[in-house]
Amino acid sequence: MNILVLGGGGREHALAWAILQNPKCDRLILAPGNAGIAQIAECASLDILDGTAVVEFAEAEAIDFVVVGPEAPLAAGIADRLAEAGIPVFGPSAEAARLEASKRFTKEICDAAGAPTAAWERFDAPDTAKAYIRQQGAPIVVKADGLAAGKGVIVAMTEDEALAAIDEMFSGAFGAAGAEVVIEEFMEGEEASFFVLCDGETVLPVGTAQDHKRVGEGDTGPNTGGMGAYSPAPVMTPEVTEAALEQIIKPTMAEMARRGSPYKGVLYAGFMIKDGQPRLVEYNVRFGDPECQALMMRLGAQALDLMLASAEGRLAERKVNWAEDFAMTVVLAADGYPGTYEKGSVIGGLDNLPETSWEMMFHAGTTEVDGQITASGGRVLNATARGHSLQEARDRAYAMAEAVDWPQGFFRRDIGWRALGDG
Ligand code: AMP
Repeated sequence: MNILVLGGGGREHALAWAILQNPKCDRLILAPGNAGIAQIAECASLDILDGTAVVEFAEAEAIDFVVVGPEAPLAAGIADRLAEAGIPVFGPSAEAARLEASKRFTKEICDAAGAPTAAWERFDAPDTAKAYIRQQGAPIVVKADGLAAGKGVIVAMTEDEALAAIDEMFSGAFGAAGAEVVIEEFMEGEEASFFVLCDGETVLPVGTAQDHKRVGEGDTGPNTGGMGAYSPAPVMTPEVTEAALEQIIKPTMAEMARRGSPYKGVLYAGFMIKDGQPRLVEYNVRFGDPECQALMMRLGAQALDLMLASAEGRLAERKVNWAEDFAMTVVLAADGYPGTYEKGSVIGGLDNLPETSWEMMFHAGTTEVDGQITASGGRVLNATARGHSLQEARDRAYAMAEAVDWPQGFFRRDIGWRALGDG
């Protein structure tokens, strides 16, 4: 098969690495890819938000299967365009991608499906939103309705913070995404991510993970795209997993099908778990980054078969072959991230790293300049490893992170502290 993966971050490097292990893959192209991906696959420059360009490219290159990494092309209808052209695609339609693109849509679906989530109200004007906040008090959560690259959520511990968030959103800080806001009850508990594949009917769990959103050790400092992750997440016990599937995921999928927009692709559910009961925080319509890197380490070659089964409506025939293993990914980021940071610093020590089915350095924001790998983003590298225990996976991942010679970068040293109890 000729396979095209859209995207160019650590998530897509991990997807490419897993896909290449499957003998079904004859040729693999990533658009746009990055310097690490270029070492294992072809990279093409292509505007992945332009449906016409993507379909023309896929036809010209005789692509048999397209895997969509990030959410923006899905929300823009890339899966619809490819499906219309008869090209099999892994990822939901634009209508189904509203589960990530609109917080209000997700809340309405949850209510219709009876899925446990935070109590909520929606507002399209600041005055009514502020009156509601004063009535409810803090802590309270303010969310821009639309896609805001993970930045449109303010967990306000005081009423003043919540009121300021309303001013910020209605002043256009998040563009069109903030023209409508959802205000939610603050939920306490432990967070975990749950990944399932769907084919419109069947739901197949493909792993759990825990992310580390804050930039600093001990979960301090500002929020980031994610500084590390591990899989599985111990808080997702068999009982919690069962409750999540039966009370939240399956009713959501049934409601989507009932509305005539069956969900296909990976659904990433974020839960808040308290007293053994999961409640939905959010849905995303793609793999998480960096959770995907840990998941791909555990799934390996079968990831391609599972994604094909999702696209072709054959998930009922499949199961996941689980090794009793653990995986961890540690993000190396540029000094200053998630604030301002320099681009262009040279990264050394990458040539001597192990590249096995147990450990890989996935690239995120890297570019090759004159034969050298340089940093071109905030999150730059993902040291990812597997082990018979989480501790073993962690030791391997950190050995790789330490071996990188990049004085302008940093990483958190406590990834996995919740599971390993050593924070
Ligand atoms: P979201 O983009 O909706 O996942 O929100 C980002 C982060 O904000 C989540 O991962 C949670 O840590 C936090 N969060 C969102 N909604 C709530 C809520 N209702 N209660 C507590 N924390 C929340």
